[in-house]
Amino acid sequence: MTLRLAIVGLGKIARDQHVPSIAKTEGVELTSIASRNASIDGMSHFPDIETLLASDEAVDAVALCTPPQGRHAQAVAALQAGKHVLLEKPPGATVSEMGPLVALAQEKGVTLFATWHSRFAPAVEPARAFLADTDIHSVHVEWKEDVRKWHPGQAWIWEPGGLGVFDPGINALSIVTAILPRPMFLRRSDLQFPENRAAPIAADLEFTDATGLAVRAEFDWRETGGETWSVHVETAKGKLTLSEGGKKLALDGQPMVNEPDAEYAGIYRRFVELTKTGAIDVDLSPLQHVADAFLLGRRHVVDAFVEA
Ligand code: NAP
Repeated sequence: MTLRLAIVGLGKIARDQHVPSIAKTEGVELTSIASRNASIDGMSHFPDIETLLASDEAVDAVALCTPPQGRHAQAVAALQAGKHVLLEKPPGATVSEMGPLVALAQEKGVTLFATWHSRFAPAVEPARAFLADTDIHSVHVEWKEDVRKWHPGQAWIWEPGGLGVFDPGINALSIVTAILPRPMFLRRSDLQFPENRAAPIAADLEFTDATGLAVRAEFDWRETGGETWSVHVETAKGKLTLSEGGKKLALDGQPMVNEPDAEYAGIYRRFVELTKTGAIDVDLSPLQHVADAFLLGRRHVVDAFVEA
């Protein structure tokens, strides 16, 4: 049976990735859009998820591509209506709002899938397999990009719950938590807040694990020259570098993986599989680390961020 899917929140990521990836995935079909302003020619359109669910539109599942702050109420409405739910990252605005969602999905016997798109990047699984089999000396994450280029006009991202630089940074954390053999925990967090914004523009974090491993993560949204989305791991077998957000993997500079992006195709293949049994896939560890970074964060006030 083909899953009839509605996209909720037809913004940048829905248009760039969800729509084309759904079209390429067997077992799922995009049938409706619920978005206040945006629509797709020729497709059923509803202004919001409540109107969609109250209609007689035949929908089996929803993909919530709205900003994280409003996602909990939308997920509750969809689960209450017995729909499978795919959540864009981050899965919500708080860690603790997720427990009741998981419980509701279990009660209704439907799928709840908290996606971490970077975990579907081609270098991630080979990196995990490599690191499972070698001594790790240290980890250095550099996730540095130009916020004006990647997030123009996204006011929600600077609001409480929008995460600021952790919006991309949580992708790095989703990779690191997938490839390291043991759970890590935060030791230090320095956060730089523009004086006119509620969310940080840069973060410098130090984690460790039960063996004392040093994991440093630097996230910065003010990079306009050498943007980088890299994880460097010093190991007993050499320096492993995952770059371009997980498209490439190299050992001591020698390429091991270099493949085109197929993250969202992977997400939708997994979603179709999960819905066959109503299985739940919710890993909150990247969101927990971000919450810890705010909990332990030393706040530094920096220059105002002005969009134009
Ligand atoms: P976006 O371009 O701002 O799109 C979100 C859409 O949600 C808006 O276009 C808007 O469409 C709708 N919406 C509903 N309530 C809203 C509200 N209160 N404020 C603003 N928009 C609202 O954002 P996005 O970049 O697609 O990101 C959406 C989610 O995907 C975020 O959690 C983000 O972390 C994640 N994500 C983004 C990217 C990326 O590269 N941009 C990559 C991976 C994941 P209507 O006005 O039509 O309602």
